[in-house]
Amino acid sequence: MSIISKDIAKAVELLSNEELVAIPTETVYGLAGNIYSEKAITAIFETKQRPKFNPLIVHIPSVAYLEKIVTDIPEKAKLLADAFWPGPITLVLNKKDTIPDLITAGKDTVAVRVPNHPTTLELLERLEFPLAAPSANPFNRISPTKPEHVEDYFKNEIKMVLDGGACTKGIESTIIGFENDQPVLYRHGSTPIEAIEAVVGTLHIKNKNEVAPSAPGMLERHYAPKTKTVLTDDLQKTINDHSGKRIGLLLYNDILNDDLIDFKIVLTQGQNLEEAASKLYDALHQLDKQDLDIIIAERLPDFGLGKSINDRLLRATK
Ligand code: AMP
Ligand code: MG
Repeated sequence: MSIISKDIAKAVELLSNEELVAIPTETVYGLAGNIYSEKAITAIFETKQRPKFNPLIVHIPSVAYLEKIVTDIPEKAKLLADAFWPGPITLVLNKKDTIPDLITAGKDTVAVRVPNHPTTLELLERLEFPLAAPSANPFNRISPTKPEHVEDYFKNEIKMVLDGGACTKGIESTIIGFENDQPVLYRHGSTPIEAIEAVVGTLHIKNKNEVAPSAPGMLERHYAPKTKTVLTDDLQKTINDHSGKRIGLLLYNDILNDDLIDFKIVLTQGQNLEEAASKLYDALHQLDKQDLDIIIAERLPDFGLGKSINDRLLRATK
């Protein structure tokens, strides 16, 4: 029997009994548990096989709830919360003592956001606790953007996927931390940096060498298909380099007409980066099922959501 269900009351009951439920958000599906339950949080790490040094994102029902989770909120954090929540931006702020160390991997900071999905907002309103919810995929694998993706991964491990349809944004939240009260980009995501800079001014962008490995979204290999994947600016050359192999193409634009290709997915018909982001992970899930020798992904334009998509594609190739 399918574990996919629209029954919010059942999700409330399971979560209140310290069990896990996969939940829909606008970014990707999350594997959710009560942040105050050691049993539930331990189960999240074990189910995902996620290393314990990887902190989790706390999901809250409203901007007002933030004060129950964190202290010393910088002015620019308030501006971002007001501008983007509910929405795909995560703020890393100083945690209150009441937030368990298991959530934050022992750090003094906690990552928090208000997700923009009506089903999950209703769920959060009905619960007496916030939800820790990393993406509902095994560690390093492709994130789920449809309930069926989660069911494929975890039908034997969890009792329920709360059905909220396909995720509208399709890539993870943008993560912003604060250093000396100034915003710093920790992870590219569904909120483009240009939109954030319009609210708080210039963002400092951490490069690879500045980021500790404790930021898993920043791990070099992440979001990865099992099939070998390469990212290219020169499709024709890369296809030629792999002639004789079973090739799958992940294209931004449908510019090629090549009979040598076994399977191809075009992310957008109209150079629409939002459409491309929303289709990205489902495309990778589909390509990964085709028994290909190689997935060749075309690099997207390097602005707006194109930056975030390129970031995920690059990590998929490692
Ligand atoms: P996921 O929920 O699987 O998309 O991953 C959660 C992301 O939040 C990871 O990239 C973490 O590194 C990041 N994160 C969570 N808590 C913190 C924190 N206290 N400091 C920095 N990054 C964090
Ligand atoms: Mg993840």
